[in-house]
Amino acid sequence: MGVECDVAVIGAGPAGLTAGIYLARAGLGAVILEKLAPGGQAAMTDTVENYPGFDGPVGGFDLTEAMRRQAERFGAEVRTGEATGIEEGPGESGKLVRLTDGGLGCRAVIIAAGARHSRLGIPGEDRFWGKGISCCATCDGMFYKGKRVAVIGGGDTAIKEAVFLTRFAEKITIVHRRERLRAAKVLQDRICSFGDQVEFAWNTVAVEILGGESDGHDRVSGVRLRDVKTGQERVLECDGVFMFVGLTPNTEFVKGAVDLDEKGYIVTDEMMATSAEGIYAAGDCRKRPFRQIVTACGEGAVAAHAVEEFLEE
Ligand code: NAP
Repeated sequence: MGVECDVAVIGAGPAGLTAGIYLARAGLGAVILEKLAPGGQAAMTDTVENYPGFDGPVGGFDLTEAMRRQAERFGAEVRTGEATGIEEGPGESGKLVRLTDGGLGCRAVIIAAGARHSRLGIPGEDRFWGKGISCCATCDGMFYKGKRVAVIGGGDTAIKEAVFLTRFAEKITIVHRRERLRAAKVLQDRICSFGDQVEFAWNTVAVEILGGESDGHDRVSGVRLRDVKTGQERVLECDGVFMFVGLTPNTEFVKGAVDLDEKGYIVTDEMMATSAEGIYAAGDCRKRPFRQIVTACGEGAVAAHAVEEFLEE
């Protein structure tokens, strides 16, 4: 297998698509690999209000689709493919991105594989995941019209998604392990504006997802909650559980190829270079202090610029 392109970009979220735009405009052949649909987590977001250049809310899907079209217009190729590893070769200066079916030979790699929603690892979670447990209000919110739902977590994602769920659910209980939300103040103010439709279970964790089978389908009927201060348990009856307890980086496939921190995020320098020569990383899979669409795009641009300089050398 020979070198097929200058740069393989792994992941077509905002970081990978921006890298593709900059690489293509620099005259480099870029293949952006995406295992499912382009856009990453941002494409699943109902509205984005803090991405510069839009004076009103823009849909996450619309925003990332525009990025994809922009990258392709400049000549980057978005290709379906799931990376399973990165190896040295072909040739002295090449890299080989191993795929589930074959491989892609290139001269440099940008890893922009993003992150996925973490799970709690509690009983009932595996059984009901996708069958009453969701991590996407935009995708599944409409199934809960007039119903009761629990939202687990107190970060930006949990509160943003809870705000979206107010369009459908009759009652939303936000279950948070502390007595203060982590989410930005603007989101806190917004969720508090819904009055009785939203209630908070403070200092509380979910310890089991409850449910059973009805009409031949597994269905959630509630969550067992534990007060972390008193240890007391109770059952919250609900029809759905939306779980937003942080992110897990999609970096299992590069373990051993580049340095990762203790949580699995890729460690880079300020030019997005990893510990391996010719391999760069950008976006949510990278160890970084502030996870936003705009910072992912910025890192994608920096990584592309660094790759351009590396290949010129
Ligand atoms: P996050 O900020 O890490 O928040 C995760 C939440 O889950 C926290 O409230 C955390 O509690 C809770 N949690 C974690 N592990 C838990 C456990 N084992 N049991 C119970 N609760 C647990 O994750 P995120 O909200 O998905 O956001 C990820 C990144 O994307 C953040 O940097 C965020 O700012 C960014 N983001 C930004 C926007 C935006 O509109 N600007 C939107 C979405 C996401 P503690 O608070 O006690 O730690």
